[in-house]
Amino acid sequence: MNKKPYDPNNVFARILRGEIPAERVCDSKHSFAFYDISHAAPVHVLVIPRGEYTDFHDFTSRATNEEIIDFWKLVDTIAAEQSLLPTGFRLISNIGHDSGQEVFHFHVHMLGGAPLGPILAPAQK
Ligand code: AMP
Repeated sequence: MNKKPYDPNNVFARILRGEIPAERVCDSKHSFAFYDISHAAPVHVLVIPRGEYTDFHDFTSRATNEEIIDFWKLVDTIAAEQSLLPTGFRLISNIGHDSGQEVFHFHVHMLGGAPLGPILAPAQK
């Protein structure tokens, strides 16, 4: 499990403070959504809480119920607004070392707009 302390200068914290530009998708009281700079699907949105949480476990264990509900409701709103509900989409959240998490501010990737293929390549033996 990730034990890194939250770094207030991570790239998503800087986006929230307006220090780095981002292509906004929509936002809410406790959450913000923007397009991934390196999109892996026709629709690739990142959803983040405004609060300082390093990953899913940190968010789920420390955020208030209001923040958690706000976050997942925004994910669902985006799915509707981006026309992802009829055809389907994928949610991914990388958590810690084995996942390859790069930015240690909790985020969910929303991927869709075309068939996405298998979730993972077969594991190497
Ligand atoms: P993860 O590996 O789950 O931590 O994913 C981090 C994601 O953040 C990657 O998909 C990057 O392309 C994306 N990313 C990094 N910097 C930016 C940025 N300035 N604006 C938008 N997306 C970014």
